[in-house]
Parts: sequence; C-alpha cells; structure tokens
Amino acid sequence: MHSDFDLGEQVVSSYLWSRGIDHLDVVAITHPHADHLGGMPAVIANFHPRELWLSIDQPVTELAAIVAQARRAGMQISVKKEGDQFDYGGAHFQMLAPGRDQVTGSMRPNDDCLVFTATFGGTAALLEGDAERPAERRVVEEHPEAMLLKVAHHGSASGTSADLLSTVHPRYAVISVGARNVYGHPRREVLERLQQAGVKTFRTDEDGAVSFYLDGTSVTPDVALLH
Ligand SMILES: [Zn+2]
Repeated sequence: MHSDFDLGEQVVSSYLWSRGIDHLDVVAITHPHADHLGGMPAVIANFHPRELWLSIDQPVTELAAIVAQARRAGMQISVKKEGDQFDYGGAHFQMLAPGRDQVTGSMRPNDDCLVFTATFGGTAALLEGDAERPAERRVVEEHPEAMLLKVAHHGSASGTSADLLSTVHPRYAVISVGARNVYGHPRREVLERLQQAGVKTFRTDEDGAVSFYLDGTSVTPDVALLH
C-alpha cells in the first residue's frame, strides 16, 4: 500500500463531492478494521459530521485516534448495541448487533460488528458490516425485513446464510469487495444463495460505486460505472 494514498480523501471524499454532498449528518464505524475505518479521518475533516456511531466500548489504537479527532471536532459520539432503536433524520434505525452481552474489543473484531437496519417509510436497508456466523445468527433471530441488503463481510461464505435471506427477503443486495482480492471474495456459494433467493446483486469490483435511493415505497439502484 502507498502511504501517500488516502482512500478517505481520494476515493470517498471525491465521490461524495462529485455527488454534490459537502456535509454528512452521521458516520458509523462498524468495527475497527482498516478497511472499515482507514478513510475516516479525511471524511471527518472534509464533511464535518455531527455524530459518530460505534459498537466498541473501549476503542484502542487507530479507532481511539479517530474518536479523539471526533471529540476535538465537537462530534457527538455514541456506542450502539442490539436493541437500540431511534428516529434520526426522518428515518428509523434499529440496532441488531453486537449483543449487549458481547464483550467488544476481542481478537475477533468481526463479532463486534455493528449491524443495523435503516428504515424510511416502507423501505429498509440492512447493513451487515463484516458480520460472520455468530453475529448473523443473532440478526436472524430479530427477523428484520429489508428490500436492500449490504452483504456481510465482502461476500465471505461465513455470512449471507439461506436463513438470513429467507428472513430478510431482500430484493437487492450489494457486495463491497476489492477487485482481485486475495481472500476469494465474494465466494461462489454466496452468489449462488443470492441468486437462488432471486436477489438482484451488485458488486463494487464489477459495478464500481452503487447508490440506492429509498423513497419509502421502492428502492432504486444507481450504478456509477457505465458498462
Ligand atoms: Zn471488511
């Protein structure tokens, strides 16, 4: 990796600016892995979000530095857990994981992952972060329904179970995944499960950035790259 390349600045910020967005209300860090927080310092500096949502009780290292930056910027910082639900900006948010009994900050950060639904009218998105089997099992028990699924853990076989798909009934799914990654994500069996469930699936390695508009009645995907 090139140390002078800042994903938050050069990819996320430029994309948001290209969409005419110069302010964010909230940023959420699902769990402390570099591919989920690496770009956050630039995003906070450029978009002045009001709030930061986390799942980790006692942030260390890179996450602690971001929390300190957020505090200096006057942001409101809150730790969310399963069972928290609230309205924000006209949408309803329901937290599904981590469980209140989960000791966060373990050697398995994916098990600490913040998983939640964002609902606007009759449309909802389920954002699974890097949830793996234990977190996803917890999610299934809550029976969320959502037209849009942000697929867990880059399409790893440890998530997106047939159980999850039959519970959530997504119409669309998006897999955030690097092109030619060394992990073999997304896994073929995950793509097959999505296909069997009749889910129209987008992947960022092939489609580039994908936006989804939830208008309360339907979900409309918008792909940045022209095929
Ligand atoms: Zn990840």
